[in-house]
Amino acid sequence: MTHPFLDLAPLSAAHFASIEDRVARLLGTEQDVVIMQGEALLPLEGAIRSTAGPGTVALNVITGPYGQTFGNWLRDCGAEVIDLAVPFHTAVTADQIREAFTERPDIDFVSLVHAEAATGNTNPVAEIGEMVRAHGALFYLDAVASIGAEPVLPDAWGVDLCVIGAQKAMGGPAGVSAVSVSERAWSRMAANPGAPRRSYLSLLDWKARWTDAGRTTLPHAPAQLEMLALEACLERIESEGLTTVMHRHATAAAATRAGALSLGGGLEPYVHSATEAAPVATTLRTPPGIIASDLVATALKSNPALPLAAGGGALAKEMVRVNHYGVDATAEAVQNSLAALGTALAEQGVSVDGEGARRAVEGAWR
Ligand SMILES: *Cc1c(COP(=O)(O)O)cnc(C)c1O
Repeated sequence: MTHPFLDLAPLSAAHFASIEDRVARLLGTEQDVVIMQGEALLPLEGAIRSTAGPGTVALNVITGPYGQTFGNWLRDCGAEVIDLAVPFHTAVTADQIREAFTERPDIDFVSLVHAEAATGNTNPVAEIGEMVRAHGALFYLDAVASIGAEPVLPDAWGVDLCVIGAQKAMGGPAGVSAVSVSERAWSRMAANPGAPRRSYLSLLDWKARWTDAGRTTLPHAPAQLEMLALEACLERIESEGLTTVMHRHATAAAATRAGALSLGGGLEPYVHSATEAAPVATTLRTPPGIIASDLVATALKSNPALPLAAGGGALAKEMVRVNHYGVDATAEAVQNSLAALGTALAEQGVSVDGEGARRAVEGAWR
């Protein structure tokens, strides 16, 4: 008996290359795109280990948990790391980056997360990119949570290493991911004696054995199901239109923000300024005395399919995440999420305006 997930013909090199080209079109990039056979942490770690080492002076911007991870990898590679941490309720500003360069003109690597699903902020990459380029540093960007939700333009912004995954706003699989690599980034890797080679983390292996070899023979059997899912996801985005997909996410974020403010009861947007709030997901701060993880657990009891989560680690006490991305970037998902949060708050004795929230979401969607 055949099974839709099984008994598939092998994925050909030409097919694999065509999916890479489609990712390059999504990013509007002329750079090489490498699809890596693992979750986004694979190219995120691979790109850092390939380009950083002793002698690297890295400015590592921390606007959420991923920035912390990047700093640890950078230090592990032997780089000198200058951490620039901003509070999670805000974004980093281009001025802060400028000040960091003024203080340390020898910075030659900048790592930044574009949007943070975990904290709900988004950073001004275009402005920051200008500054990074003016100082000649290599620019590494985690665009996993922004791709599909807001513009991601590695070439226009001068991003040397732009990592994406399909599992957030693209509504795709989590098991494969991609990175666009500039000529400058390839040169850095080639000159880096510590860059992984003959390793699962190696980008240089892919360059030598796949990209530069004309993309005719795959070095390994690809994660076939995930590659087919990525292709289907790209097809779906192309047929809806990337602009429409992004607009859906921006509207979901605006609606969640407006709805939460109208709901009242002390539930507030976690990111203070709407311009610094990510379109991919909206984070909310719970009122004093209400534990976010308890509130989410109560809300999910009424409907376990709602895209709600509590913040990670210490944020579980005070942060609710409305993950309105992918198929959940809809008016319905936002309405149902806020309604469930409203009911859960009311159960804890907090007075809320459910009808006001409903109208605010409707208004934002119109
Ligand atoms: C979701 C996400 C990733 C991917 O990591 P997972 O924990 O596997 O989901 C990487 N970077 C950012 C900024 C993300 O939001």
